[in-house]
Amino acid sequence: MPRNALLYVLAVDLLAIVAGLFVALRGPAPSQRDLVNAGVLLVAATLHVVISRRIEESRSDRSTGPHVTTTVVWMFPGAVLLPPVLTFALLVWIRVLWYPISRRPLYRHTFSSAEVMLSVIAALLVLRTGDIDQATIMSGASPVQVLVLLGAAVAYFITQAIIVGIVILLSTPKPTWSAVVGSSSDNAFGALVLCMAVVVALASAHSWFAPLILVPVVCAADWAARQVEELRGDSRTDHTTALLNSRGWHEQADREVARVRRQGGALTVAVLDLDHFKAVNDTWGHPAGDVVLRRVAAVLNERTRQGDVVGRIGGEEFALLLPDTDSEQALVVAERIRTGIAEMKVPATDKRGQPVSIEGRTTSVGIASGANGLVELTTLLHAADAALYEAKVGGRNQVRVSSNGHPVFLQ
Ligand code: GH3
Ligand code: MG
Ligand code: MG
Repeated sequence: MPRNALLYVLAVDLLAIVAGLFVALRGPAPSQRDLVNAGVLLVAATLHVVISRRIEESRSDRSTGPHVTTTVVWMFPGAVLLPPVLTFALLVWIRVLWYPISRRPLYRHTFSSAEVMLSVIAALLVLRTGDIDQATIMSGASPVQVLVLLGAAVAYFITQAIIVGIVILLSTPKPTWSAVVGSSSDNAFGALVLCMAVVVALASAHSWFAPLILVPVVCAADWAARQVEELRGDSRTDHTTALLNSRGWHEQADREVARVRRQGGALTVAVLDLDHFKAVNDTWGHPAGDVVLRRVAAVLNERTRQGDVVGRIGGEEFALLLPDTDSEQALVVAERIRTGIAEMKVPATDKRGQPVSIEGRTTSVGIASGANGLVELTTLLHAADAALYEAKVGGRNQVRVSSNGHPVFLQ
């Protein structure tokens, strides 16, 4: 992490502790009713985290950046109804429960907790300025007080956006506007969750058991968020191999090309086409062909790096985008893949259902590199395709580098 980002993270952590202690100590001591309210919110939050655990783990795994969670629906009512000391106790409890689910390093989890703490404090300031508490809500809040309640939710939202935006700004070499403010769907989900938080706060003010009734509603929101994210992922994934499909590959490759254009450096595209693949289907059947395709996908995943973009762009055609890799290094990777495929021994069943081992399959590979920010995906793909054609004409089972062997530059 860059030094500035590190200092910022530590400052936010420290500020959250100091501000939290300050606000907690200045607040009133909890009454018996506060303890009941806090206990119910705590039970509801715990139930929610336990029930939604699997869903949230898979959501967290999918997103590499910040992950919008629904736990604020318990902290916000806490801020409205409870003395700060109990709100913070609830917050700490939820964040501790959340740690194994977030699957983030401890420093990142701590930073997120500090960011939630400061956002809750921002909401508290608005609530206290507008004199909102359980009694005012019970007596039928005036329109102004309703606005204050919504204002507190907005204060939470904005504080969170600013704290997270700054850390992304400081830790990304060349940040884009959309990376700093987050995607529109993430922001929409964040706003929806805060609306739920206001509803939970209103209901909890009126009856002590409301949070418990609302647990399934909050879990349903988690479930819906995951469904949306999965659908979005599905339209970019190939079902046979679980690699990116053509659409997914092009989208991710475009992003990498844009990054290399900004930051400079080299970039290589490789296109693979399995040799005489029709013969596999003709000899052993289509299902056996699919098994071979899956094994090829595994070889591609095993023999590339984490940041490489691997996709199935056609029937038995695959594409790789290798960031920060020139043609010489790419040739090594392509050779490694070519030999990996040639060495495959794929157990499958033939047309009669008899076990067979499919061996000696080969692949032809064409690669094309661009450098110094002068790269365009379509140009590289065309050049790699032409090189692939040369490999096929040249006898298959080989790697060819883009026609003249030089990187492709764009004027
Ligand atoms: P070469 O590329 O070496 O010229 O020969 P080839 O036999 O691979 O030729 P071509 O690329 O024209 O054929 C591709 C074959 O891939 C045709 C089709 O039977 C097979 N294929 C395409 N998609 C799938 C698929 O999803 N599953 C299976 N099992 N086979 C597929
Ligand atoms: Mg083909
Ligand atoms: Mg082929």
